[in-house]
Amino acid sequence: MISRKNVNIGFTLILLSGITLSGGFIKWPFFIISAIFLFSYIIFDREKLRCPNCGGFENLDRLMYAKNHVYHCRHCGERIDIIE
Ligand SMILES: [Zn+2]
Repeated sequence: MISRKNVNIGFTLILLSGITLSGGFIKWPFFIISAIFLFSYIIFDREKLRCPNCGGFENLDRLMYAKNHVYHCRHCGERIDIIE
């Protein structure tokens, strides 16, 4: 099961990574912070945002879609439910 909260956390991490990345063009230390956010996302994704059935990787935008629509895993075809 993938929870709605975890999708939101993943989305927030990507968003923060993007914001700090653009900040890095002004002040370079932001690049490091951006890399930390990105790294956190990769770890978090691997732990919490994989298909519960086959462990296949799903893009975050697909998971956002799955929050409000019926969505089937691209790898195994199993329905992915996003729970509260
Ligand atoms: Zn699957």
